[in-house]
Amino acid sequence: MKLYYKYSDYLKSKFNTKVYKLPVNIPVTCPNRNGTISFGGCTYCGDNAAGFECLPNFISVKEQINKNMEYIKMKYKAEKFIAYFQNFTNTFLPLSNFKKYINEANFPYIVDISISTRPDCINNRYLDFLREYKEKNNINITIELGLQTSNYHTLEKINRGHTLAEYIFAANQIKNYGFDLCTHVILNFPWDTCLDVKETSKIISAVFSTHVKIHALYIVKGSKMEEQCTRNEFNLLSMEEYINRVILFLEYLSPEISIQRLIGRAPKEEASFVNWNTSWWKIKELIENKMLKLNTYQGRKFNYLNGEILKGFED
Ligand code: SF4
Repeated sequence: MKLYYKYSDYLKSKFNTKVYKLPVNIPVTCPNRNGTISFGGCTYCGDNAAGFECLPNFISVKEQINKNMEYIKMKYKAEKFIAYFQNFTNTFLPLSNFKKYINEANFPYIVDISISTRPDCINNRYLDFLREYKEKNNINITIELGLQTSNYHTLEKINRGHTLAEYIFAANQIKNYGFDLCTHVILNFPWDTCLDVKETSKIISAVFSTHVKIHALYIVKGSKMEEQCTRNEFNLLSMEEYINRVILFLEYLSPEISIQRLIGRAPKEEASFVNWNTSWWKIKELIENKMLKLNTYQGRKFNYLNGEILKGFED
């Protein structure tokens, strides 16, 4: 039984071979950190945001891609790659600069450009450029949006600086341009219930996200959440609860959405709590084993869109 739709399967069917991501780090910040929205940033975000595996941003895009590519090519005998603009908000810069960085990623072996950003940092001008770029270079475009949770009360609590509405708007806009969309979620916020997890899955399915990246909450050193944790302002959920939530999320998720990750990772030196001190692959294995035991799979409960209830009327 296929438990879930793996991203590697999506890539293989789209590009006929294995494809590897090459992280690219450009000198950008985030409007939720530089004062445009707030100075604090999301309460779980640290000074390095998500750039744990990135080369320094003073190295040119071309050089970063070449360096990372050489290493991965040797290690996995890979031939096709994704340039992944990973860290902070990669559309939070003037369009002319954005164009310059994207143009630098134009290599024959790059088959997709993935751009990580916030739902409130994308508009038609940036998307028009990307559509032209896609057509001119015959390349796939993926936009990665952090939603984290559909619970807008939690979004406020974690100081995301946007609500659910901005995500829905941006997701529809991106899909209308024919780009792939990857949505990031964190399934174990202490303030979220299983109902929130279920609704997050349903909303991501309803906007036809192409991929999803699932993370467990980790506590980054120096983050606001670390302070709150020290003051016992909330309790972290157990690993068992996380596993149950991932399974629930997958059951309601459209089977057409590929799963990039079942759990994230962060270096131990950077975080005061990460994945219950258990390796990510072990947790992945536990999730898969529990799904097998429960005889369940992605999309088992995906029966709620497109007037499903009318199916009984055959005439
Ligand atoms: S949007 Fe991303 S980079 Fe900005 S504060 Fe939140 S987690 Fe950090």
